[in-house]
Amino acid sequence: MKRDRKEEGRKYRLKYREKLKKMRRFSYEKYRDKALEQCKRYYQQNKDKVQLYQKQWGYKQKEIVFDHYGNRCSCCGETEVFFLCIDHINNDGNTHRKLIRGRATGTNMYRWIIRNNFPADLQTLCQNCNWGKYRNGGVCPHKSNSIKGILK
Ligand SMILES: [Zn+2]
Ligand SMILES: [Zn+2]
Repeated sequence: MKRDRKEEGRKYRLKYREKLKKMRRFSYEKYRDKALEQCKRYYQQNKDKVQLYQKQWGYKQKEIVFDHYGNRCSCCGETEVFFLCIDHINNDGNTHRKLIRGRATGTNMYRWIIRNNFPADLQTLCQNCNWGKYRNGGVCPHKSNSIKGILK
């Protein structure tokens, strides 16, 4: 008698667990679908507003980062914010590796920098100096004329 009750209880618990599992999964999926749909509907109805908000959010992050590293190119002094970007002082540095691993690009990158307390091996460069540095093996041509030597 005792064993039977135990067995029954086990069976019941198993059945109940399955039911609970199914119930949980069901409600979660239902909830998720509903939430996703609401999100999508909101986005479609307010596309301009959402995009503008995302843009402003991106600018804000960028602003915070440049306020920290300086609003001018640390090589040539360019101050036009549309030319400026964040550069890794040491291209194979720790921060660079972490950024690559975290796949941080664009707004993501600025958020990453803020969240990681503004790593010290980053600096502000303009696109010219950034590109020049990249093409010139890690040193901006403003600072070394080695590329001109190669081209001669
Ligand atoms: Zn520059
Ligand atoms: Zn430069």
